[in-house]
Amino acid sequence: MRTFGYAAPSPTTPLAPYEFERRALRSNDVAMEILYCGVCHSDLHTARNDWGWSYYPIVPGHEIVGRVVEVGAEVSKYNVGDYVAVGCMVDSCLECDQCHHGEEQLCREGNTGTYCGADRITGDKTQGGYSKHLVVREEFCLRMPEGLDPARAAPLLCAGITTYSPLRTWNVGPGSRVGVIGLGGLGHMAVKLAVGLGADVTVLSRSKNKEADALALGADRLLVSSDSGAMTRAASSFDVIIDTVPVKHDLDAYVPLLDIDGTLVIVGQVGPMQEFGTVPLLLGRRRIAGSPIGGIRETQEMLDFCAKKNILPDCEMIRIDEINYAYERMEKSDVRYRFVIDMASLTAPAT
Ligand code: NAP
Ligand code: ZN
Repeated sequence: MRTFGYAAPSPTTPLAPYEFERRALRSNDVAMEILYCGVCHSDLHTARNDWGWSYYPIVPGHEIVGRVVEVGAEVSKYNVGDYVAVGCMVDSCLECDQCHHGEEQLCREGNTGTYCGADRITGDKTQGGYSKHLVVREEFCLRMPEGLDPARAAPLLCAGITTYSPLRTWNVGPGSRVGVIGLGGLGHMAVKLAVGLGADVTVLSRSKNKEADALALGADRLLVSSDSGAMTRAASSFDVIIDTVPVKHDLDAYVPLLDIDGTLVIVGQVGPMQEFGTVPLLLGRRRIAGSPIGGIRETQEMLDFCAKKNILPDCEMIRIDEINYAYERMEKSDVRYRFVIDMASLTAPAT
């Protein structure tokens, strides 16, 4: 299937229109027209090759909401016209122990990324959602629940599940004391989801600038992480901290905030971290953990939870030709709180 979108031609070149081929529909595939695609900081890391594994041209985008336009002969769950969604992975082995218990993101053979991956049959490079169409196997397609606004739901597919999964893994519920470091795309979803699960929620931000926003999102308070006095007073007061900071940073400031047996979950920085001391870890039996996205079953559970609780991301809708400007703003943490591309703005290239 011939399609078109926006790709980064190299790590140093702005994204530009790009035409490419999606695979022909297999019997277990769903083809969709993409309606909305969220803009994740991982898209920016990938476009710039921050992690060293990008290829070019690369079409980013893994917060995808669309409408089914065609289904393969063996597809049973979806019909033409259904609202569907796709997140950060499009395939996995589906045979290992992790895949069997619904944790395809932890597939022993590695899951296939929506972009920056290789098709498990042909080896072709995968391309993401800043494009008109997507072909994906049925098992990696999510159903959009009734009542969840498709125009605002896209960020749930990465920012939502990446924060929901650790909240569930570490049993966050009523009475849990949750900290969220960094109020960006992931951070604002962590706040809304933790509040939805009944937790007491504190935003840890670098300044007071986002305090009114944090409270409006449902947080109980904002703690300024550069205020050493306030940080000292908050010692031992969290059960779980979700760390969404997208760069190398100092964990010594945050670990003492955990109560005994508390866990700081890194979901932001992918790569080296600044050296940190182990004394607060040992003395408080505290833990530092990591967490990647979430499984398909859990992603569907999160979408259904959001529909039931009326939880939606705060989106700033953009046209696809504004994507490079959106990246510039994201680099400056100037996003309130997720850019979403309205794909109606993506028109076919002149032939
Ligand atoms: P984002 O919207 O840019 O938000 C990041 C937030 O971190 C900012 O709003 C800012 O909050 C804070 N921050 C930024 N620079 C900082 C610095 N130098 N020091 C301290 N805090 C800083 O990014 P995002 O889309 O939420 O993504 C966050 C990270 O998660 C990215 O690295 C992304 O690649 C990663 N990610 C991981 C997974 C996974 O599976 N684990 C999935 C998706 C994304 P304040 O202004 O409030 O301080
Ligand atoms: Zn993402």
